[in-house]
Amino acid sequence: MSAITNHLPTAELQALDAAHHMHPFTAGAELAEKGARVITSAQGVTLTDSEGEQILDAMAGLWCVNIGYGRTELAEAAARQMNQLPYYNTFFQTTHVPAIALAKRLAELVPGDLNHVFFANSGSEANDTNIRLVRHYWASKDKPDKKIIISRHNAYHGSTIGGASLGGMGAMHAQGGLPIPYIAYIDEPNWYQDGGELSPYEFGLERARQLEQKIAELGEDKVAAFIAEPVQGAGGVIIPPDSYWPQIQRICDAHEILLVVDEVICGFGRTGNWFGSDTYAIRPDIMTLAKGLSSGYAPIGASVVSDEIADTIANAGDFNHGYTYSGHPVSAAVALENLRILDEEGIVDKVRKETAPYVAKKWAELADHPLVGEAAIVGLVGSLALTPDKSARAPFAADKGTVGLVCRDFCFANNLVMRHVGDRMIISPPLIISETEIDLMMERVVMSLDQTLARIKSEGLYISGRSKTS
Ligand SMILES: *Cc1c(COP(=O)(O)O)cnc(C)c1O
Repeated sequence: MSAITNHLPTAELQALDAAHHMHPFTAGAELAEKGARVITSAQGVTLTDSEGEQILDAMAGLWCVNIGYGRTELAEAAARQMNQLPYYNTFFQTTHVPAIALAKRLAELVPGDLNHVFFANSGSEANDTNIRLVRHYWASKDKPDKKIIISRHNAYHGSTIGGASLGGMGAMHAQGGLPIPYIAYIDEPNWYQDGGELSPYEFGLERARQLEQKIAELGEDKVAAFIAEPVQGAGGVIIPPDSYWPQIQRICDAHEILLVVDEVICGFGRTGNWFGSDTYAIRPDIMTLAKGLSSGYAPIGASVVSDEIADTIANAGDFNHGYTYSGHPVSAAVALENLRILDEEGIVDKVRKETAPYVAKKWAELADHPLVGEAAIVGLVGSLALTPDKSARAPFAADKGTVGLVCRDFCFANNLVMRHVGDRMIISPPLIISETEIDLMMERVVMSLDQTLARIKSEGLYISGRSKTS
């Protein structure tokens, strides 16, 4: 029996939490003062907290619980595997059945000739692996100078030193001496924020062409790869204009660089297809997977690479890289069971054909709300840009994120988990969300927007940060 139970009073749990638990991406002192919400169980799309409140989780945890909570089949798969073989490693010429079976299954599922899987325990680790992989690949081809990886401002590729360096988050780079050397950045395809008078189509082309300019500036003989998320998730669910990915693909094809597509959020049905690469007709050389791979039931990540990359690396001696838990048998067994459910229950097809169109219609209607400048969605990942001035797509005069946080707090109070990134509100619900649950979600979203509008009007925050003349 564990010493700390769900049945302690909430305040006691919060005090112990504040005393001993350091939280990720959290201002510790502020959290200690407010107390963390204690989640005790979950079923489907609904969380239960220590006060017995039922909360609709429109973020699927952290974009990961694709099949929803409470699937006992995954628990059973984990228990079976723990009883049979709880651990063995995949170093030094050993393997085990769950790793073999999962690698084979992923090779079937991912597009193109990406047939080789290197396992990690998270998306961050998989992206660290990718840094090692692409540089080692070029070195193995006698091009050791091809080291630079081009990424994008406001990209998210994880929180390890490698992952955070690949990412383009200023607040993360500001702590701990990041980024590491040989990472370069271009601008993100965020038309709402940066598009000005350009059409989304023209803007998408322009932002993609920055990749070509960057390659020219750095020298093609110095560039190893370009990395991007099909849709930027943690950056605020930035859905690129339709012109963007075809142009990026053209540039990658025309130059000798690898295309690394970070599918950690978009993978496993999020955009209405198995992968964001399917939705946007992208042909990656390497894919990063995590999150939905196990629906968050067990930690696992993976890099999936092409035949050509795998052959090159296989013929270059030892790849001096790996994690104790690479291909962990319990995580692999859980992931396999998750993929079986996604497939056999037709969850991805249902998102594309039924759930996403149902949400999209309602989501688009939010664009009429006085606080919403843009309501964007693809599959089951969407965002709302909050604005004091729709026609100008203007930011607020208040510090970025001030209004977003007000809205996030109203959502929480309304038993809805919707996250804010700056002044964008984002959703990414479990893929199994029903129409009734969508209706409930939308009701709470609208209520939270209305309350936010009233609050910021009363506090004098409903003011544009852009002067009318500029
Ligand atoms: C969450 C995320 C990561 C990092 O995954 P972790 O499992 O948190 O390490 C990497 N890339 C993208 C696109 C993500 O959303």
